[in-house]
Amino acid sequence: MATNFLKQRELAIMAREQKILLREAEIMQREKALHLGENNTAANAALNALNQAQLVEANQNLVVASIRAQTMMEAAEQANAQMSHMAEHDLLTGLPNRSLMTYRLEQSMTLAQRNNYQVALMFLDIDHFKNINDSLGHAIGDELLQSVAKRLQACVRLSDTVSRYGGDEFVVLLSEVKDPEDSIIIADKLISAMAMPHQISGHLLHVTMSIGISLFPVDSKNPEALVRDADTAMYQAKKKGRNKYMMFTQDMNLRAVARQSIEQALHQALLNQEFVVYYQPKVNLETEQIIGAEALIRWQRTQHSLIQPIDFVSVAEECGIMLPIGHWVLREACRQTQAWLKAGLPIGQIAVNVSATEFHNKGFFEGVRAILQETGLPPHLLEVEITESGLMQDIETTAILYALKEIGVQIAIDDFGTGYSSLSYLRNFPIDTLKIDQTFVKDINASTGETIVTAIIAMGLSLKHRVVAEGIETQEQLDFLKSCHCAEGQGFFFSEALPARDFATLLERSLT
Ligand code: C2E
Ligand code: MG
Ligand code: MG
Repeated sequence: MATNFLKQRELAIMAREQKILLREAEIMQREKALHLGENNTAANAALNALNQAQLVEANQNLVVASIRAQTMMEAAEQANAQMSHMAEHDLLTGLPNRSLMTYRLEQSMTLAQRNNYQVALMFLDIDHFKNINDSLGHAIGDELLQSVAKRLQACVRLSDTVSRYGGDEFVVLLSEVKDPEDSIIIADKLISAMAMPHQISGHLLHVTMSIGISLFPVDSKNPEALVRDADTAMYQAKKKGRNKYMMFTQDMNLRAVARQSIEQALHQALLNQEFVVYYQPKVNLETEQIIGAEALIRWQRTQHSLIQPIDFVSVAEECGIMLPIGHWVLREACRQTQAWLKAGLPIGQIAVNVSATEFHNKGFFEGVRAILQETGLPPHLLEVEITESGLMQDIETTAILYALKEIGVQIAIDDFGTGYSSLSYLRNFPIDTLKIDQTFVKDINASTGETIVTAIIAMGLSLKHRVVAEGIETQEQLDFLKSCHCAEGQGFFFSEALPARDFATLLERSLT
């Protein structure tokens, strides 16, 4: 903007200079005419020669000034064009941005109305993109976005628009749709295009996308509502397991309202103390004795409805209320464990899940320390479980982990094997425990599951980490894990998560 303004000023100054030169030339011409009237021929001849030379010079200056003015004008025009391109395109991917997309959407809607066809709007969101950004860093995240942008563009016609809407969200505008089926064909094409791994800075990244589709004029006649409908449909695609598309239907709006009411209800639940902690025993696989427990939250919404974390933890994280809820779980689990210890029940270690938002929140470490002080629980009896995708490879993360370690708290990587991390964090972070994700344990009778489980156990043992298998449901799985020297585990085979009182009874019984 500022350079453009300066150029305009320079042009104005040069125009003024040109005017002055022309006026000087005029004055000299007039002087010449006057002198011609006089009879001093020798003097006149000398003056004439001088005037002639000045005129030539003035002319030359004029030509140079005009060329300079032309060049400046072209540069200003180029800068103007660049600026308007920047205002309408995304810097990272070069795709049209939200404002250009909105303009094209409005244009397409007008044309479609006139020519009696439809417009399809697709809202796309990369699944678990945050995991990639958090675990591999923003530079790799940015390269991935560029690679995704290229693939999307390759799937549509030139007359269609692929735009970056923000973060990991893209909007594709199909401007001439004769049959809604066409948009489904394109959605399938986009999903298949994503199936091939992206080669980014030595990483092979497998990413998927969730897509929501809305149609003009069927779903809405208003551009903003059309985008909102496609976004709502995309959210449903995520809920249905991701890596798929969903066409918008009106009843989805009702579900969006329901989600809003969950948010409100969560705030109320915290005030009304409707959350409860359940405890799932962790056992020594050799002796089958209880050596600790994992604290798992439940929401006792009414006397008869117990809501599982899968139905509210992610909503709570998104709306920011997971911070106070997580803090409450940590305090309650530490308080209860200390109460059991004081009552003579050797529960062992208590594991508490900590979401990425909680872990990276400023006051997290101080919160843990304060709770340990307040409840009197010995720090080595607390283990925090964090998923590998929740761990950023940055200085702050390392500092928090070392600070926890220093006061004696143990650190477990939850759902190990399901994140995108490069395994280098195993070397850099002070980790005590790897928890093999239950999907691998479930696959133990299949050869791939066995291979992965064997590899994780071997790696954990060689790095001197404890290894805990999650989701053990059958004798066969238990036998296999024992044969691989996995020392600890939990799962329905031993017990599901229980209310505090039932857990204490189970523990007491196991001691006799
Ligand atoms: P997670 O930390 O991996 O917890 C293990 C989940 O597996 C628990 O589900 C547990 O009940 C379930 N499970 C245990 N054994 C078996 C089995 O043999 N078979 C099967 N199919 N499932 C088994 P739950 O309690 O529904 O918790 C789900 C997830 O919610 C947890 O996964 C954790 O990520 C999250 N979560 C639970 N409580 C909290 C909490 O207090 N804070 C945070 N941030 N997240 C929590
Ligand atoms: Mg866990
Ligand atoms: Mg887990």
